[in-house]
Amino acid sequence: MLAAQKESSSYLERTDKYFLSSKTRVFDDIVSWIEEKGFEKIARGLICCEKKYIELSDENSHRFLKRCFCGREFCPVCGASDPRKKRGGFVNKKPKSPVHRQRYARLWRRLMPFRVLGKVELTVPKHLREKFKNIEMLKALHRRGWAVVREVFDAEGAMTNVHFFGDQSDEFHPHVNVLFPTTERRISKRKLKCLQCLWKLQLYDLCGEFPDVVVVHYSFRDSIIKKAHTLRYVTRPTVGFERFAFGLDEEMRLFLLSLRRFHNFRWFGILSNSTHKSYNGEKFEMLSDEEIERNLDHDQIVVDKLEKRGCPVCGEKLKYMARRDGEIVKEEIKRREWLPVAADEESWYCDFDTWLILKNLTKEWGRNDYKRSE
Ligand SMILES: [Zn+2]
Ligand SMILES: [Zn+2]
Repeated sequence: MLAAQKESSSYLERTDKYFLSSKTRVFDDIVSWIEEKGFEKIARGLICCEKKYIELSDENSHRFLKRCFCGREFCPVCGASDPRKKRGGFVNKKPKSPVHRQRYARLWRRLMPFRVLGKVELTVPKHLREKFKNIEMLKALHRRGWAVVREVFDAEGAMTNVHFFGDQSDEFHPHVNVLFPTTERRISKRKLKCLQCLWKLQLYDLCGEFPDVVVVHYSFRDSIIKKAHTLRYVTRPTVGFERFAFGLDEEMRLFLLSLRRFHNFRWFGILSNSTHKSYNGEKFEMLSDEEIERNLDHDQIVVDKLEKRGCPVCGEKLKYMARRDGEIVKEEIKRREWLPVAADEESWYCDFDTWLILKNLTKEWGRNDYKRSE
């Protein structure tokens, strides 16, 4: 922790330098470097990020416009991080990055209904980290993380996510976060020790070297606010453009570029894609339907439905209509021919008629919540 704090000053200086120098020039340099290395598609994605739009519509003539993002962790738009308060907590209400918002909404729907979530963080000791600059080893981190949590906590399902860096340092620091529904809150020292030992064994099995010390953390979240904060923290982009441009060497950059098809959020057991919808909450304490609904962010529901290509007004499937020119669309948005589907929303727009219906609909949802909370 101390080491990370010491390095933070150089990181900040670098960020200043970035803002003082021409933002565009650095971006152009990075894009041409990516292109030179043979990743033309990624380079094109970065250039076109947030500049393209597609139009979608359904049988009931509800019209939507989707702004396209490249989704790369090292994109200035998609990898943007949010300012955080000194003692935890985020400064603004919504994540800045569209990719962060999407991930957050997805996790929220699947994990929030469980009353208590356990959170385990499993780290890799310094001398073994190099071995994880490899896609197969990163995949193994997911699987092994889940295996350990399943055994120690008797867990029935989990979400795993690998972060490549810590908060401040640019050093490669792979660690796996495991979030899982649980029935216990505090755990015994013995159990923590057990978690540590089993993780050591997994690392030994993976790396062929026995680590002396491994750092593992356990905590639990049993309120909506705490769960929300954790979900937001876990889903945040951890690479970012500044780090990619100024903090990483060529080898590390190339490694990140090579992770094109690496899924960094994985679901296991009862939370897996095929079973999570049919889970009936036998073992775990679940929030009641009313509580869940009351705590859902309506803007998020709308965006979530749209991301799955369903119309948030009538539920019909949305079909691709046309690719739209970015400059023309911007003018149309200025003239309010297209309106954001929710406050501060920058990825999804709809036409005026659809907007009016949507506005009344979410108001209706809000009123029901109000009645319930009284
Ligand atoms: Zn992007
Ligand atoms: Zn519709």
